Amino acid sequence: MKKGKLVVISGFSGVGKGTVVSDIINNCDDFKVSVSATTRSPREGEENGVHYFFLTKDEFEKMIEDDKLLEYAQYVDNYYGTPLEFVDNTLDSGVNVVLEIEAQGAMQVKEKRPDAELIFILPPDADTLKNRLVGRNTESADVIEKRLQRAASECEFVDAYDHYVLNDQVSKCRDDIIKIVNDDDSASISQDIVNNIKEDILKFKEGE
Ligand code: 5GP
Repeated sequence: MKKGKLVVISGFSGVGKGTVVSDIINNCDDFKVSVSATTRSPREGEENGVHYFFLTKDEFEKMIEDDKLLEYAQYVDNYYGTPLEFVDNTLDSGVNVVLEIEAQGAMQVKEKRPDAELIFILPPDADTLKNRLVGRNTESADVIEKRLQRAASECEFVDAYDHYVLNDQVSKCRDDIIKIVNDDDSASISQDIVNNIKEDILKFKEGE
């Protein structure tokens, strides 16, 4: 049987990755999303095993020790990682697997699984990103500030991705990603646009 494709989706916090990924999963039977493990506390409405596997630091470190994660990273004071078993079983069954992960983890996947497609979702501009983070009301001002600074530091990884899509409309962004996975790169945005948006995001760098 033909194996599924591993699709890594990253983007700055607040860009709407979660919504886009849900839209892909809800509309395409041949995609499944990997549920990550994390040590962060659940947000209101988040369920264990559905949105994340919520673990203690000790439980997470045991998974690292037992080699049960495809990748993991620390992000704004917490661990996040991808359980390996689900990924491999799903790919073996011929279904594509989407990982919605941050850039350091994505770099580990690129190294371990060179066939993976790495896609970075960009906001139309920096202010849209900040407004979305503030507007979703899930984080304190302090955490929002850290996430914007993290976005600026993630700019250095952006060039390592294979494809870039813009999220100014969820259904369009979803269709662009599906096209890319089906080897139609016409949906990728140009390097010039990527560079302009990156420049804009860099204004969130600490102390600037
Ligand atoms: P949030 O706390 O907003 O749910 O996620 C914070 C960041 O962690 C997001 O950029 C998200 O993509 C990333 N993330 C979620 N799961 C994983 C994972 O399994 N591994 C890595 N490396 N990052 C993850």
